Amino acid sequence: MSKLAAKSRLRLRVKATAETIVRSGHPWVFADSIRDQNREGQTGELAVIYDRNDKFLAVGLFDADSPIRVRILHTGKPQAIDAEWWQARLSHTIARRAGLFDARTTGYRLIHGESDSWPGLVLDRYDTTLVLKLYTAAWLPRLDEILALIKAQISSERIVLRLSRNLQTLAAKDFQKQDGQILFGAPSESALIFSENGIRFEADVLRGQKTGFFLDQRENRREVETLAAGRRVLNAFSFSGGFSVYAARGGAKSVTDLDISAHALESAKRNFTLNQNLPTVAACHYDTVQADAFDWIQKTTTKYDLIVLDPPSLAKRASEREGAIRAYERLNSLGINLLARDGILVAGSCSAHVSTAEFFDAVRRTAMKSRRKFTEIKSMQHPPDHPAGFKEAEYLKVIYLKFAE
Ligand code: SAH
Repeated sequence: MSKLAAKSRLRLRVKATAETIVRSGHPWVFADSIRDQNREGQTGELAVIYDRNDKFLAVGLFDADSPIRVRILHTGKPQAIDAEWWQARLSHTIARRAGLFDARTTGYRLIHGESDSWPGLVLDRYDTTLVLKLYTAAWLPRLDEILALIKAQISSERIVLRLSRNLQTLAAKDFQKQDGQILFGAPSESALIFSENGIRFEADVLRGQKTGFFLDQRENRREVETLAAGRRVLNAFSFSGGFSVYAARGGAKSVTDLDISAHALESAKRNFTLNQNLPTVAACHYDTVQADAFDWIQKTTTKYDLIVLDPPSLAKRASEREGAIRAYERLNSLGINLLARDGILVAGSCSAHVSTAEFFDAVRRTAMKSRRKFTEIKSMQHPPDHPAGFKEAEYLKVIYLKFAE
């Protein structure tokens, strides 16, 4: 590993509960569960974890600055983590996506962090551009090697590096790497366009949220398309308007994008315009509202036949869980008030700290309090290119309710 100085192997022992958790396949070892370490560790090096009988338990990436001190790469029998092992791991991850998408979908996730056994690392494809996003500094000293690996197995015109905010200072200082830096290939001369189920979208891969687009909502967008015919649709927290273009293609009478960000709405308008070749999109009445969704939904008197409520995470940490549940109840209650007869509520949450059951129950409870008759149409969780392999990785959940009167 090029930028890591060769030292004796870093060896750790962890507390009994952590041992059980790691053995069960959980990918995180927290700093406070380490009970013994042979020397100071360097971010990015391999840490070998031994059990209480001094037997090999797991090997992972050490991160000296994160409370998640080790992210597990392999558990079970002792294993050399060498070039061949990395190659095989990447081939396996790519193979998991085989057959998921046809030529009409050129934007999807190739590597989804821990749940694909690449802890803290995401790789998205947007047409011929790859976006590599890092959530732990442990990958920074390994970047050249990972890049070579990706280039060898996945063809692309360029690879863009994105860094989660907490890594940006360290990456600039110690590795001369910036968020949005192009690691390989030439910058794109125009906006980056990709397709999703035949709909064209732009993605702001250099600066946009996540890696530039909310690829994780693809299946829900498709579902909304099937429900939208003839309806007046409100897409709250619209971001770049993904749900809206699908609703329009599905025959919505009108679509309104509501977001607090002018920048997001500009992108939403461009995405709507990009698809004017589709007759139903061209025929759909389209407008945007820039406002705080909580305020606006409370004040407006307009009725809608389908409302998508997909807010940003309302609980950034575990202590915010209860407040977030109350906020979901309030938001969905306001949404239900705006629904016309036979209206459909599509209620989403991307808060990992609010469980799927808690969120669905909160929405059902709110629907019951409205005293309107409703049926549950369906609920959805993670799409196959964003698998959730452990509890903390389950962030996405969406429930569909139809109100009869
Ligand atoms: N539904 C989107 C993703 C939502 S991301 C999609 O499928 O692509 C969350 C969006 O909520 C962002 O665009 C952000 O600008 C917006 N937002 C955050 N707080 C808001 C608020 N109080 N009112 C309206 N929009 C808000």
